[in-house]
Amino acid sequence: MSALVFLEPNDELSLQAVTLAQSLGGEVRAVTIDGPFAPSAWAGALIEAAGADDIVGPGTERGNEILAHVAAQLDLPMAANVTEVRGDEVTRQRWGGSLLEEARIHAERRLLTAAPFAFAPAEAPAAETLRPDVNGAVQVLEHVAPDTGGKISLADAKVVVSGGRGVGSSEGFAILEELAALLEGAVGCSRVVTSAGWRPHTDQVGQTGTKVSPDLYIACGISGATQHIAGCKGAKTLLAINDDPEATIFNHADYAVIGNLHEIVPAITAELRKVRGT
Ligand SMILES: Cc1cc2nc3c(=O)[nH]c(=O)nc-3n(C[C@H](O)[C@H](O)[C@H](O)COP(=O)(O)OP(=O)(O)OC[C@H]3O[C@@H](n4cnc5c(N)ncnc54)[C@H](O)[C@@H]3O)c2cc1C
Repeated sequence: MSALVFLEPNDELSLQAVTLAQSLGGEVRAVTIDGPFAPSAWAGALIEAAGADDIVGPGTERGNEILAHVAAQLDLPMAANVTEVRGDEVTRQRWGGSLLEEARIHAERRLLTAAPFAFAPAEAPAAETLRPDVNGAVQVLEHVAPDTGGKISLADAKVVVSGGRGVGSSEGFAILEELAALLEGAVGCSRVVTSAGWRPHTDQVGQTGTKVSPDLYIACGISGATQHIAGCKGAKTLLAINDDPEATIFNHADYAVIGNLHEIVPAITAELRKVRGT
C-alpha cells in the first residue's frame, strides 16, 4: 500500500510524518496545500489526491484537524499521534504523551498522524501543491497571537527557564526571569505554579499547557510529573535543578544539578555575566 503525506511548509514535524509514512513500506508521495485554511475543503483535496492510498500527516493541531476531517468524509477511523505502526496495529500517544495505547485499525486503509518527536525527520521530499476550491467552505481567516509584551513567546523560545513549586512564590521567579533574559529565552512553569496564581496559564508547560521544543530547557524545582514532561520532552537538552536527588525529573535530564535553586540559578547567572563581561 502506498501513502500520501500532507506537509506543512518549513515544518520539522511534517518531515517526521514522512519518516512515519516511509515506515509503512510502500511508495511515499507528498503534497502541500496552498490557499486559505479551510479544513473540510483541504481534506477533500487530500482524499482526491490520495486515491486509495494511506494518508499521513504531522501531529500538529492542523495536521490532526485535517486528518479528522478526512476520516469523517471517508467514514473511516483515524489514529492520531502515532509512534509506531505494525500492519494494522499502531502504538499511539494519549493524554499529551503521558501514556501509550496499542490499537488495531479495522479499515482497508490507514489515516495517521505522527506523534511529535517520535520519528527522526526525513529529507524534505519533492511535493506537489494542491489548490483546493475553498469557496463556500468554512475558512480560518486570522490567528491572533497572545500579546507577549514584546517578549519571546514560550513556544518559539530557544531557551526556556521553567519553574515549579520549588520556586516558592511569584516573587521567586525574578531570578528565573533574569536568567531567561540573559539567555534571550522565555520563562515557563508547572501547573502547580499556575494553580497557585504565581504565573499566568500562558506560561504553563505540559499536557494542559504549551508544548515546547527549545534547544535548552532548564527545569528549576520541578519534580518531573508525566503531565509536565509531556510538554518539554521535545527539548534538545534538559538541565534539571532540584534539591531532591530522587526527583523523577533527573530521569529525563541531560544535566543534573542537585541543590537549592535559589542558590544555583543566581550562581549560573553570575557566572554567565562573568564569562560575558557584562
Ligand atoms: C489531567 C492533568 C493534567 C495536568 N497537566 C499539567 C501540565 O500541563 N503541566 C504541569 O506541569 N503539570 C500538570 N499536571 C500536574 C502534575 O501532575 C504535577 O502535579 C505538577 O507538574 C507538579 O508540579 P511541580 O513539579 O512544580 O511540583 P511538585 O511535584 O510539588 O515538585 C516540586 C519540586 O521542587 C523541588 N524543590 C523544592 N524546593 C526546591 C528548592 N529550593 N530547590 C530545588 N528544588 C526544590 C522538590 O524536590 C520537588 O521535586 C496535570 C495533572 C493532571 C491530573
